[in-house]
Amino acid sequence: MESTDCDVLVIGGGPGGSSAAAFARLRGLSVCLAERDQFPRFHIGESLLPMGNAVLRASGAWPKIESAGFVRKYGAEFMLADGSAVKEVVFANGSIPGLDWTFQVERSRFDSILLEHARSLGADVRMGATVRALSPSRDSVTATLARKDGPDASITARWVVDAGGRENLYESPGKRVFEPPHFPRRAAVYSHFEGVRRAPGPRGGNIIVVRLEDGWFWIIPISAERTSVGLVTSVEAIRRGGDPTDVFHGTVAGSPQLCALMDGSRAVAPFRVTADYSYVRTQFASPRIVLAGDAAAFFDPIFSSGVYVSIHSAQVAVGAIARAHAANRALTRAEQRRYTRGLKRHCAVFQELIDVFYDNDGFSVFMTQKPPLNLGPGLTSIVAGHVRLTWALWWRFKVFLAVCRIQKYLPIVKRIAHGSRVSLRAA
Ligand SMILES: Cc1cc2nc3c(=O)[nH]c(=O)nc-3n(C[C@H](O)[C@H](O)[C@H](O)COP(=O)(O)OP(=O)(O)OC[C@H]3O[C@@H](n4cnc5c(N)ncnc54)[C@H](O)[C@@H]3O)c2cc1C
Repeated sequence: MESTDCDVLVIGGGPGGSSAAAFARLRGLSVCLAERDQFPRFHIGESLLPMGNAVLRASGAWPKIESAGFVRKYGAEFMLADGSAVKEVVFANGSIPGLDWTFQVERSRFDSILLEHARSLGADVRMGATVRALSPSRDSVTATLARKDGPDASITARWVVDAGGRENLYESPGKRVFEPPHFPRRAAVYSHFEGVRRAPGPRGGNIIVVRLEDGWFWIIPISAERTSVGLVTSVEAIRRGGDPTDVFHGTVAGSPQLCALMDGSRAVAPFRVTADYSYVRTQFASPRIVLAGDAAAFFDPIFSSGVYVSIHSAQVAVGAIARAHAANRALTRAEQRRYTRGLKRHCAVFQELIDVFYDNDGFSVFMTQKPPLNLGPGLTSIVAGHVRLTWALWWRFKVFLAVCRIQKYLPIVKRIAHGSRVSLRAA
């Protein structure tokens, strides 16, 4: 069996893995990256958050992303499917400067650019190579790779960053332990379309979120012609509806807002279904292995947090690894706990926002044009991804959550007319 040694083995060439590889190279560590697929390949997760721009700048990938011609995203529009309420979140109105915009990306291209960037920094990238087993010892980890075009190989690395995403293709006791589920089981059915209507000017680059009684649609412009459209609802609702594609089309037909946007459009890619995607693993780090991005946790796509969390965690993971590497030791228990807790704190802010979105009273507060107590600018910065809560953001966020809770018993803002909302239906 062919065998290689390196400082860091990165599992996965998605945004988390490529960023981890780039950060490790920038710190002078030798890197092997194993990616199961051949690129370019389809991946869902097309709407970025402004907070991720700084991470891409730090990894050196930003100029390549900036010159790739992706659609600029200046904000998000939230609306009810019957058209009775619309709210535009303009990132530039946030209280934290520098989070004015980001990109909507076709992931096949975005991921390829990030991976090539890691390669250009000197990462040894192995495509068509699936990590099938990890065997940690005191000073290193030996990985077994199944290769599409050759015999199995082995890599011995001082460190592993597992950025292998939501699937878990190797056996690991640590990866079997999850936090109790926070969210119900949800599913998404989605495709790419041409001919979806857009607002003129910068607003045309916004993500549009259309809320139904029992789910929501995303509408993400990913190129001049192409728009990603997806329906998210409960796994049970999709099952009850029969064919997911029929549920998608039937629900569009029942919503005046979606009809207006989608009229005359056509799907130009196969429909895909992703189900039951929410989980948080209990531990994100052990002495020589660190989980980054979806490999650690993924909860819900509503606030477009996935890519940001994956590249941010990659940056933090490599920082911790590089410090331990320089001191010629494994990650201490305290470092493992700090990494896990820090990332979970980030995730918790998104989870609280997600809870607000799915709760009718919370959503009524979120949708008010001017949230009470001038909470709007702080909330906008959080929606832009600033989930490292400074004191000024923290207290505003806590007050906002309190108002959402009080709204259940005492209407502080006008309640959204739930009766008139559109719900799922089959075609
Ligand atoms: C329905 C839906 C909609 C979403 N929408 C958004 C959105 O709008 N914005 C957003 O930011 N996020 C969104 N996400 C989340 C986003 O897709 C992920 O959070 C993001 O891709 C995570 O990046 P990652 O690098 O951690 O993992 P991935 O992007 O999944 O990359 C993992 C890579 O690892 C490879 N791999 C896996 N196992 C192995 C192995 N054993 N050996 C070698 N290679 C391996 C895979 O082939 C893959 O290329 C959405 C998710 C879902 C389910």
